[in-house]
Amino acid sequence: MEEIKGTVKRENAAGRMGAQDAAACAAYAEDYAGYLGVAKTERRAYAEAVRRIEALGFRELGAYETLKPGDKVYRGYHGKTLMAAVIGQEPVAAGLNVIGGHTDAPRIDLKPVPLCEKGGLAYFDTHYYGGIKKFHWLVHPLALYGVVVKPDGSKVEIAIGDKPGDPVFQITDILPHFGAEQSAKKLSEAFDPEDMDVLIGSLPEPGADKDAKEAVKRNILRLLEKDYGLTEEDLLSAELELVPAGLPRDLGLDRSMIVGYGHDDRVCAYAGLRALMDLPAVPRRTGMVLLCDKEEIGSVGATGMDSTFFENSVAELIARQGTPHPELAVRRALEASRMLSADVCAASDPHFPNADSTGNMARMNAGGCLIKYTGARGKSGANDARAEFIADLRRIFAADGVVWQAGELGRCEKGGGGTIALFMSRYGMDVVDFGVPLFNMHAPWEAASKFDCYMTYRAYRAFLAD
Ligand code: MN
Ligand code: MN
Repeated sequence: MEEIKGTVKRENAAGRMGAQDAAACAAYAEDYAGYLGVAKTERRAYAEAVRRIEALGFRELGAYETLKPGDKVYRGYHGKTLMAAVIGQEPVAAGLNVIGGHTDAPRIDLKPVPLCEKGGLAYFDTHYYGGIKKFHWLVHPLALYGVVVKPDGSKVEIAIGDKPGDPVFQITDILPHFGAEQSAKKLSEAFDPEDMDVLIGSLPEPGADKDAKEAVKRNILRLLEKDYGLTEEDLLSAELELVPAGLPRDLGLDRSMIVGYGHDDRVCAYAGLRALMDLPAVPRRTGMVLLCDKEEIGSVGATGMDSTFFENSVAELIARQGTPHPELAVRRALEASRMLSADVCAASDPHFPNADSTGNMARMNAGGCLIKYTGARGKSGANDARAEFIADLRRIFAADGVVWQAGELGRCEKGGGGTIALFMSRYGMDVVDFGVPLFNMHAPWEAASKFDCYMTYRAYRAFLAD
């Protein structure tokens, strides 16, 4: 049958890559998995990104008095939120091409006073972060990452659970034999987050009297002091996060997918960063990548996209180009910019067809996915990108052979969600969501196709180079 021109295809294109693309895709996926295994928290994602870009010659913005085309700079907020940029041939005031993603991911945080003893066992009391299905986080081996900061400013880095021989931690669950009461409850009520304490020890303090109170907790306090130089009070000024222990793995006999913790949104954050690092020439417009924190709890806080980090960063660039009327120049730059909000979306799962938006769901292996609007119900809370911008993206992607698809976030009135797009659109700039489709979003182990990861990177690179 003759093909009708211009029909929308949503095909499994992963098997049709040429040898060169297939090799590039495999190398990209391997490097990404290496990054993901290191970047297990927002702080570690920041440190790993800085390490990689510094190796390529990016320097902290403060080191520059003036900026010229081709300069590679970065700027951070609180060791969590990162801006990296390659200065373009046009002045920054003429507008930027921005890729914005986030590096925080759903997890289980420790409470400010976490240590407790129950039934002769020691636990850390927890408070979950982000939207999770709570039962996903029970039973898994968990690693503990974060920092403890003392009043004298000294910092103790904690990373327990991923090095060979490390212990891990666990939130326990009831066995099926005793599970009738739990099974009879609604899923949303069956798991009380106040019961999600993580097991950290079972031995009493050496030499403790058999009637001694909280001897197991005392033993943990002793170990914290001995191994890390920490007191219980020190945990008051700490950020400690429980995340799944283990490294990303190839998924499937054909090794076509990656299962890992924190694809949302490190898969897009990494793609944006790599796109900036791999720009073949000095771009026409300044290319900027923003990797921010706190997206999973509404982009709030000093390190979230709702802060002034982006505007301030643009102002810092403009101040270094000697632009007249710098305050107005910043406003103009923001208005004239355009952005891909780099965040993941849901892939259509054949086992849950009732969640799909008919004919408008991302498919695994059909490329990066453009989401014109997010939001809920009647697009409430969406940044609904304008057609002119999407048309321009079609041009950019086609010219570079990017395989991509368009979709939405689930069935009308059943799905929904938001990204940082909304916070950027307030400047008047064009913003649209574009990212990698996932299975199991927000579960301890999320799954993505290598082809979609690679094509998302290609899309970002083409956009930054335009
Ligand atoms: Mn996300
Ligand atoms: Mn998310």
